[in-house]
Amino acid sequence: MKIRVIGGGLAGPEAALTAARLGCEVDLYEMRAMVDGKPRLTPAHQTTDFGELVCSNSLKSESPNTAPWLLKQEMRRGASALLRLADASAVPAGHALAVDRVEFSRLISEAISAEPLIRVVREEVTTLAPDPVYALSILATGPLTSDALSREIERLTGSGHLAFYDSISPIVDAESIDMSRVYMAARWDKGTADYINCPMDRVEFDRFLDALLEAEAAEAKEWEKLDYFEGCLPIEVLARRGRDTLRFGPMKPVGLRDPRTGKTPWAVVQLRKENLRADSYNLVGFQNHLKFGEQARVLRLIPGLENARFLRYGQIHRNTYICAPALLDENLRLRKQPRILFAGQLSGVEGYTESIASGLLAGIYAAALARGEEPTPVPRSTALGSLVHYITHADPKDFQPVNITFDLLEPLEEELRKKIRDKKERHRIVCERALAAFDAWWVAIPHPAAELRR
Ligand SMILES: Cc1cc2nc3c(=O)[nH]c(=O)nc-3n(C[C@H](O)[C@H](O)[C@H](O)COP(=O)(O)OP(=O)(O)OC[C@H]3O[C@@H](n4cnc5c(N)ncnc54)[C@H](O)[C@@H]3O)c2cc1C
Repeated sequence: MKIRVIGGGLAGPEAALTAARLGCEVDLYEMRAMVDGKPRLTPAHQTTDFGELVCSNSLKSESPNTAPWLLKQEMRRGASALLRLADASAVPAGHALAVDRVEFSRLISEAISAEPLIRVVREEVTTLAPDPVYALSILATGPLTSDALSREIERLTGSGHLAFYDSISPIVDAESIDMSRVYMAARWDKGTADYINCPMDRVEFDRFLDALLEAEAAEAKEWEKLDYFEGCLPIEVLARRGRDTLRFGPMKPVGLRDPRTGKTPWAVVQLRKENLRADSYNLVGFQNHLKFGEQARVLRLIPGLENARFLRYGQIHRNTYICAPALLDENLRLRKQPRILFAGQLSGVEGYTESIASGLLAGIYAAALARGEEPTPVPRSTALGSLVHYITHADPKDFQPVNITFDLLEPLEEELRKKIRDKKERHRIVCERALAAFDAWWVAIPHPAAELRR
C-alpha cells in the first residue's frame, strides 16, 4: 500500500523523497498548480514550485556548535535529501547556509521527477477519511493549509486543537538577567515563587511606555493582518489604549510586593521559566509585533534586562499549526488516528530547516510503519529529538511552535555544568553528545540506511 504525502513545500518533498528512497510508493499531493494557464497559489507562495522559500533564503547558521548547525549536521548524517540539495545550491552568506532559491526548487523538482516511486498529484486534498489506497498519510501542508483541509483537521483532532496564528512572547537567556535588580515571587504568595519579577517605579515605567509607543512595528502583509483576540493583544496595542492599560494587564503589580523594599512597585514585568527549555525565561504576556531591533531596544529598558540576550523575539503572525503536545506521539503520529503523521510547520515546528527536519523523520517513521515495524524515535539528546520532545511534551495550554535553539537540548548534568564555566565549551560537549547519540540511533534503526545514502 502507498503513502500519501500532502504538501509540496519543504517538509512534504523531504518526507516523500525519504520514504521513496526507503522503498515505499508515495503519492505527493500539492494544491499549487497551473489552472487554465493561471497559477493557483497560497497567499504567501509566488510559484508552483516544490520547496519554495516564501521569505528569506537562509537556512541559518553554519557556525560549529550552534543549535542550527547541530540540527543540520544531524540531518546531513541522516541523509536528508533537501539539505543535500540546499548544500548544492548554496550561495555565499558568511556563517549561514543560504541558497539560490530558484536553483534549490529546481533541484527538488528534479529529484522528485527522478524518483520512480513518487507520483505527483497537483490537487487540493480536502478529506482525511480512510482511503483503501493509502496505508498512511503525512500531512505537511504548512502555515497556509487550505481552508477545506483546515476544517477537516479540526474535525479530526477536535475543536481548539488547531491554531491559525502564533502569538509569541520574547524569551531571554537566564544568564543575561541582572538578578540584583529583580526578585522572585508568586502573586499574593500563592504557590512557589517561580517568577522573576522586574519592578519599575513610575519614572522607569513612563520611559518604557514612551519607548514602546514610539517603537516601529514589523510589516504585516495584507493577508496577514489579524483580528487579535482580546485575551492575547500585543503589548503595543495595549499601550495605545491608555497609559495605565498595561499596568492593569501584563504589567500588573498587585500582589507582587518587593521583599527588599516592602512596597508594591508601580509596574512589574514577570518572567516565567520556560517549560522544557533550560536556562531561559519567557516575558509573560509580552507578545508583540515590533521589529526585532526595536524589541531589543525597548525591552532592555526593563530593570534587570539591561543586558538581556534574547533567544527569541516576540512575534505574531499567520500560522496554522496543531496543538502537537495534545495530539502527537513521539513518532509524529496522531495518537487517535495513527495512520496519520504530521510534519513541517503544521506539526508545531517553526522554520525552514526545522520543517525539513521533521519531514525527514516523518519519512523514516512512515517507511518503518509501512513495513509493519514500530519506528524507533530519534533520541531526546539530539537536536532532532529535542524538537520532537518539545512539540510532544510542552504544555498544551499555551503551546507555541519552536525553532531549534540550544535551550531545547538536554542540558549537561548539574555537576558537569558547575565544572565547566565556559558556555561555548558546554555547547561543544552537548553537540558532541548529540551527534554521538544520533550516529548510534542511525546505525541501529532497522531501515536500509545504505539506501538513504544514495
Ligand atoms: C510569510 C511567511 C514567511 C516565512 N518566512 C520564513 C523565513 O524567512 N525563514 C524561516 O526559516 N521560516 C519562515 N517561515 C516559516 C516556515 O519555515 C515556512 O512556512 C516553511 O515553508 C514551512 O514548511 P512546510 O513544508 O511546513 O510548509 P510549506 O512550505 O508552506 O508547504 C506546504 C505546502 O502545502 C500545500 N498545501 C496547503 N494545503 C494543501 C491542501 N489542502 N492540499 C494539497 N496541498 C496543500 C501548500 O500549497 C504548500 O506548498 C515563514 C512562513 C510564512 C507564512
